[in-house]
Amino acid sequence: MPSATIVWLRNDLRLADNPALHHAAADGVVVPVFVWAPEEEGEWPPGAASRWWLHRSLHALDARLRERGSRLIVRQGASLPELTRLVAETGARGVAWNRRYEPAAIERDRVVKAGLAEARSHLGSLLHEPWTIRTGTGGPFRVFTPFRNAVARFGEPSAALPEPPHLSAPGSWPASIPIDQLGLAPIRAWHSGLAAQWTPGEAAASRSLQEFQERVSGYQHDRDHPARDTSHLSAPLHFGELSPRQVWHAVRQADPAAAEPYLRQLIWREFAHHLLYHFPHTPASPLRAAYDRMPWREDEVALSAWQRGETGYPLVDAGMRQLWSSGWMHNRARMVTASFLTKHLLIDWRRGAAWFWDTLVDADLANNTLGWQWVAGSGADAAPYHRIFNPVLQAERYDHEGRYQERWLGGRPRALPIVEHADARARALAAYAAVRNSGE
Ligand code: FAD
Repeated sequence: MPSATIVWLRNDLRLADNPALHHAAADGVVVPVFVWAPEEEGEWPPGAASRWWLHRSLHALDARLRERGSRLIVRQGASLPELTRLVAETGARGVAWNRRYEPAAIERDRVVKAGLAEARSHLGSLLHEPWTIRTGTGGPFRVFTPFRNAVARFGEPSAALPEPPHLSAPGSWPASIPIDQLGLAPIRAWHSGLAAQWTPGEAAASRSLQEFQERVSGYQHDRDHPARDTSHLSAPLHFGELSPRQVWHAVRQADPAAAEPYLRQLIWREFAHHLLYHFPHTPASPLRAAYDRMPWREDEVALSAWQRGETGYPLVDAGMRQLWSSGWMHNRARMVTASFLTKHLLIDWRRGAAWFWDTLVDADLANNTLGWQWVAGSGADAAPYHRIFNPVLQAERYDHEGRYQERWLGGRPRALPIVEHADARARALAAYAAVRNSGE
């Protein structure tokens, strides 16, 4: 019997354009494996909404593999011992995976690679490796536009790989635990809104991409208005049900002339991973060290009002309720709600990032960190400190007819504003000025 390769699946829950799976399938027998090891994710084990998604995505992947005579082997426990056992049980020649870029995952993968006799990792979740994009002096970028120009010099991404035509199964399968035993599905029934909106898994992700191809030409205009649809591909991209390369080419093909604004967002995603790779402390501390001295307020009452969508500012409250009900929030609303927390309420961006982490189905350490540090003014290419979104003007400008606010607030009585805009703005400007004057 030809020797097998263990394909260790993580945030690449797809069959098409999956380099690790593709090369393993070309070499012979494939044993697809998922190891649930949240304690290896450092401070950022998947939050509740992510676990909900993962549960369903794993089922979808297993079903897809079974249609092709294969299956997903599921294990729970520390990755290196589990993989070592699987190699011994199957007589596999080695283990293959696609690389991840979160600091804890990088460290874990280094340990796993060192501990296995034969291991191969591939580029599968980004268009380019973060270390290949360099400034003229060889360092990492901290500003988006020159980063994007550097990426452009690589030219178009290579073509996506097809799904392997054939997945050879081993003579006998190693033991696997049921996906349901991982405890990912919520025990309390808070998730009906998620189920109403989302269908995790590669097949549904491909359908969403196809649907978006029809809307590419309107994206540039629609993307600023929270009542309109963007691509909704952030969770499929995070879990790797689609690769960025597949999305890139599908969008380019759908409307070559209108594709640029969308492809730019995919480059923001690359930039976020570039920053996380080169500045791995940034999920926990500001990229600009001076912001360590921000006089953040401890105010649990205000934090809770923000989380529950009861600030009294309809656009902020609509965003926070969209997040709670559907596990997702439009980018405009993410910027406005994050600005409200950090500037109007002067509450530490890390408290907001943690709430998003638990409630977003697309929670992604690189993108979430970039988004929050950008809004707080402490990160790369950050919003200027004096840019304090006025939530009333933002609503007038981007939700002129009130459709988004109506959808998520419905007939609920509107709360009284918990802070007055002009006072909050003055307080934030004073706090930010103090930090800047103390030397950035
Ligand atoms: P589209 O507008 O259709 O964009 C296409 C894709 O490009 C997205 O799926 C995403 O992968 C990428 N993208 C778009 N905008 C950004 C951006 N600003 N930074 C990095 N990548 C981007 N995105 C996440 O995927 N996970 C997060 O945890 C996350 N947290 C955020 C927190 C804050 C405070 C802010 C301001 C933004 C955050 N974003 C995050 C970025 C952005 O809001 C979402 O990617 C986007 O709203 C997802 O919807 P979409 O797929 O329809 O986006």
